[in-house]
Amino acid sequence: MAIIIALANQKGGVGKTTTGVNLGAGLASLNNHVLIVDIDAQGNATSGVGVQKSAIDKDIYDVLVNEEPIKNVVIHTQHAGLDIAPATIQLSGAEVELTSQIARETRLQEALKAVRDDYDYILIDCPPSLGLLTINAFTACDSILIPVQSEYYALEGLSQLLNTIQLVRKHFNPDLRIEGVLLTMYDARTNLGRQVNEEVKKYFKEKVYNTIIPRNVRLSEAPSHGLPIIDYDPKSTGAKVYTDLAKEVAAAHGK
Ligand code: ADP
Ligand code: MG
Repeated sequence: MAIIIALANQKGGVGKTTTGVNLGAGLASLNNHVLIVDIDAQGNATSGVGVQKSAIDKDIYDVLVNEEPIKNVVIHTQHAGLDIAPATIQLSGAEVELTSQIARETRLQEALKAVRDDYDYILIDCPPSLGLLTINAFTACDSILIPVQSEYYALEGLSQLLNTIQLVRKHFNPDLRIEGVLLTMYDARTNLGRQVNEEVKKYFKEKVYNTIIPRNVRLSEAPSHGLPIIDYDPKSTGAKVYTDLAKEVAAAHGK
């Protein structure tokens, strides 16, 4: 049965999607069957794994709002073992439409039951907010991986995130855990990078991954080619660190 991990941080641009795509490909390269579920209307994970959004007929919106079986929207990517449930701009209306619907917080959880046995890992790429879509992810998942960008005010907003996790534990998912905290876009040359690292470790302790993701130009180029970093430039620093992260995550779960 798949381990379901949501990638979340309500700040935009901290590396959620980059981590979803590249951790997903990394885990698949370790012989795991992986599904990425894109629940951000921007659909960056979808295009990041090479899926042409204009060619998509049904997407995660149909799953969440119209109860389309998720199997009907899943697409195989070019990376062996890596599938995606895609999102398009259609999803931008979902939060409003779901508000008046029955079981609005548990739509994704219900949908994933049908594919949970088909995968080793399911990674949910959350939007940059703590709205209903993110609540759906937190209700559906086992644990949350929080990317934290190495910058001033890195920890700002994280108390809201932790409050939301607490609320979802109380109402929908008592066993919800924090999978790990990942430092992203780290620049070892600056004092700031080191300070943020210490601050994050003080706060999240052993939850912080040993693997740290540095700034790497190849990581920012790969999405425009629709390729995970290990396919775009297997010798890059980005490919190395995301392979390390995949091993660290896999070791934590013994697979
Ligand atoms: P989020 O999903 O949290 O909004 P993204 O993963 O889309 O964040 O990253 C935001 C931007 O930063 C993207 O353009 C991405 O290519 C770039 N980026 C992410 N991680 C790195 C990194 N380690 N080095 C360089 N650029 C990165
Ligand atoms: Mg994103």
